[in-house]
Amino acid sequence: MSDPINLAVARAVKATEKEAKRNEEQPTRWCPFCGSMNLQAARYVSDEGELGTFTIECGNCGAAGPPALHLEEAVRAWNKGP
Ligand SMILES: [Zn+2]
Repeated sequence: MSDPINLAVARAVKATEKEAKRNEEQPTRWCPFCGSMNLQAARYVSDEGELGTFTIECGNCGAAGPPALHLEEAVRAWNKGP
């Protein structure tokens, strides 16, 4: 939810969108913080530009779900809740 993380995530969203589209697992649970369904797949990027773990991020308030090595796992974790 802090700005530095959101900036890093924003850099990786474009690259992750393609993967999200062909991914069978989709977020089905609304954002627990603001109730929005404006969710997007994101991927953390290190300062060196290396791609890291996936997460599901709320496009409305910026809340992020649990990080996971694979996008499907991140989606499942988001759907499962905290
Ligand atoms: Zn939200």
